Amino acid sequence: MLFPLLRRTSYLKHGYRRLLLTPSSLRHYASTNTQTTTTPSSSKAPMVALAFLAGVGLDYSLRQQQQKQSTTHATTETETTGPHRPPPLTRPSQAMLQKAFHRLQQVLPPEHVTVDEDILENHGYSSNSYHNEGAPNIVVFPRNTEEVVQVVKIANELGIAVIPFSGGTSLEGHFSAPQGGICLSFTEHMNQIIAFHPEDLDVVVGPGIEWEDLNLKLKDHGLFFPLDPGPGACIGGMVGTSCSGTNAVRYGTMKEWVINLTVVTADGKVVKTRQRPRKSSAGYDLTRLFIGSEGTLGIVTEATLKLAVRPEKEAVAVCDFPTIRDAAAVVPELIRAGVQINAVELLDDEMMRAIHLSSPQLGHAVKPTLFFKFAGSQAQIDHEIKVVSDIAKHHQGGSFKYAKDEREQKDLWEARKICLWSSTLLKENASVWTTDVVVPVSQLPVIIDETKNDLRNSTIEGSIVGHVGDGNFHVFLLFDQSKPEEFEEAKRLNKKLLTRAIQMEGSVTGEHGVGIGKKGYLRAELGDATVDLMATVKYALDPKGIMNPGKVLPEN
Ligand SMILES: Cc1cc2nc3c(=O)[nH]c(=O)nc-3n(C[C@H](O)[C@H](O)[C@H](O)COP(=O)(O)OP(=O)(O)OC[C@H]3O[C@@H](n4cnc5c(N)ncnc54)[C@H](O)[C@@H]3O)c2cc1C
Repeated sequence: MLFPLLRRTSYLKHGYRRLLLTPSSLRHYASTNTQTTTTPSSSKAPMVALAFLAGVGLDYSLRQQQQKQSTTHATTETETTGPHRPPPLTRPSQAMLQKAFHRLQQVLPPEHVTVDEDILENHGYSSNSYHNEGAPNIVVFPRNTEEVVQVVKIANELGIAVIPFSGGTSLEGHFSAPQGGICLSFTEHMNQIIAFHPEDLDVVVGPGIEWEDLNLKLKDHGLFFPLDPGPGACIGGMVGTSCSGTNAVRYGTMKEWVINLTVVTADGKVVKTRQRPRKSSAGYDLTRLFIGSEGTLGIVTEATLKLAVRPEKEAVAVCDFPTIRDAAAVVPELIRAGVQINAVELLDDEMMRAIHLSSPQLGHAVKPTLFFKFAGSQAQIDHEIKVVSDIAKHHQGGSFKYAKDEREQKDLWEARKICLWSSTLLKENASVWTTDVVVPVSQLPVIIDETKNDLRNSTIEGSIVGHVGDGNFHVFLLFDQSKPEEFEEAKRLNKKLLTRAIQMEGSVTGEHGVGIGKKGYLRAELGDATVDLMATVKYALDPKGIMNPGKVLPEN
């Protein structure tokens, strides 16, 4: 929770600081935090003054940005193979940015267009990513689809990049802005439930709603949305990365839970991918084309999501193992036994050591451990716990700790939730590089064992945590940012892991997406013909290459 809270706090602290100068104008901002609000005419005079002040601030800020950008590394695109690609976007000139800023202020309320440096930084850089290649030049806070259309039309006409931003929790430089540009931020105004159809088990939402908020609102109806990525993630970004999480072994990924999308394309057209029934054979599956496209094909402004019924009961159990190979070997057997488990998470001994350091009161052994979640009727749960504990015993599993009530369940699952932050306790000055691979489940014990060996033989520490029920796991590589040799070692270990996953017919990303960090591995994983077809689709939809440039597709 810490990271998103910090980010939000920083947004509240710095948001609109340059443009809205007084506490009362900040209160005005708070009161306009709704999709339907329009600027009252009585506030037009302050708006004019604001626009003037913004112009002065803008000039200064744009000059500063230009100076900064000339010293930062710009992604350069070289020779291309396969389909025709447009020339790479260049960073907009100061004159172009002035023009864009003033045009944007004509189509959005002026206070919804900002060049505040803190806001630009918050929307371009992430402390969870090591692929930060720049901040946008302008951030806008649209309130509805029509405003997104206007922003995209301006960007398309001027040839400036547009980068959608929802929760900002993605990990591979997804919202970084190597060519600068206009960032569209959705959590401020487009964060609502638009329509709720409990009788059809679906809900229509804006892209900026957080999955946790959505579930709080659905709780009283006995329903929930089962995808659970990082805390603070929002539906727009979850569509963008085709996320999943701990529940994926039972419920699948974002691809299975989106019925339709409303998308603004690069030319400013509004596309609704299909109607609202649960199934349809009407034409190409455009919904799934946009899911996982990371804002490179279009901008999602509405999503209709399927909902699941909350299970009657839930149970949590934990079991430790002498070796990580024993723990991992439980998983394929459990899947073959047809157990309808809700989650099975593997934490290696290093991860358990970190948890022991951060929360000794949880009383976990410092050994490779599996965390299980069961759901259904009591009879179902009892049966599944029996099957799983028998499989665990067969693989030298220790005692099966089982939570009986809701409080015990929370306590037992707590260890899984605090992984990322606990892991920083394993090393002084630790930065954590989180990487993500997936392999066919049968290959899981082998890849985990070999990865563990690599970590043992490395000069840096690392821990393993995984949603292993579907063959997906993460390695947290710990390094000191002030020591370049440690960063190089983290890069080497990451590369070795990704290469090994590809060799095992796996993927370099099970759920975090490609962003900047993994685009260089796409040809090795998918082959030239597949990547070239992706590029053909991309540039058919976005001929100027303005949509989140530098992400997903390799440079050549
Ligand atoms: C502690 C932690 C734990 C995590 N655990 C998981 C996990 O278990 N499973 C998992 O899958 N991920 C996990 N993640 C990664 C992250 O939470 C997911 O990738 C999530 O889906 C990103 O959502 P977001 O709203 O933060 O997206 P953002 O970071 O805002 O954006 C992600 C991508 O989507 C694009 N995008 C954003 N909004 C739109 C839009 N409206 N239209 C089109 N494109 C858009 C962006 O341009 C970007 O390319 C974790 C991250 C953290 C920090």
